[in-house]
Amino acid sequence: MRALRKPQHDATSSFGLPARAFRELADALGQAKRLLVYSGSGLSADSGLPTYRGEGKRLWTPELLVKVATFEGFRANSEFARAWYEEQGARLSAARPHEGHRALRTIENWGQVTHVTQNVDRVLEQALAARVLHIHGSFDSASCLACTHLWPAQRPPLTQPCPKCGQTALRPGIVMQGEVPPADVMDASFKAARAADLVLVVGTPAEMYPGAAIVEAAHDAGVPVCVINPEWCDNLYYARWQLYGGAQEALPALVAQAQSSRAQTDRPLPWFWRWVLQL
Ligand SMILES: [Zn+2]
Repeated sequence: MRALRKPQHDATSSFGLPARAFRELADALGQAKRLLVYSGSGLSADSGLPTYRGEGKRLWTPELLVKVATFEGFRANSEFARAWYEEQGARLSAARPHEGHRALRTIENWGQVTHVTQNVDRVLEQALAARVLHIHGSFDSASCLACTHLWPAQRPPLTQPCPKCGQTALRPGIVMQGEVPPADVMDASFKAARAADLVLVVGTPAEMYPGAAIVEAAHDAGVPVCVINPEWCDNLYYARWQLYGGAQEALPALVAQAQSSRAQTDRPLPWFWRWVLQL
């Protein structure tokens, strides 16, 4: 449930988290050797892409949902749906990374980072060196319903005939409602979640399945989870920490604190101890 109260922002807390807990979280991030970042639409919202709540909710009328977000609707309204996906794809391609993405890039230098995202845009790839696992597929991939050829990225326009077989039968490579995410992507996500030292959930409360199961698997394996989201949730049982804020503000602040935590840990021992320990 969404809370009515707003967490405090003052000298004793950061993004609703008491100062001591914020330092504890930053220490965990600074020391994590294997990190899983699970992101949702809130991460891309700061790049100007609407989330499926708020403004985005108005875009997704029930009629549009049926026409473009289900495979049956796509087949029945294929001309409309292909044109709609082309229009959306152009908007998604124009989106650029923000300070939150750049903070995630900094973390990549500290250890092994796996990115799992619900987002179908490629903004993360613009900012990161790491591979990104798209559990809902990606807008710039496509397959042909006639000849089954697959374009994992840089697909041809959906409104044009398939370059391989010549039929107008292309569909976007996103996971539509009722479809199952790719098994290899889910397997890799679960494996990374269970092996992580820390999970950062960014721009989503991770309540929607099947993605939520990835975060739950990490929690069940004893991995601490932090949720960073501008909507405060009171019942996230799997979240040890919750930062109430947008990715653009909260991620850079957290990474800066983790950087100072790492600097303190890396500080060399005083000469006396180095002499005693013969370093
Ligand atoms: Zn084809």
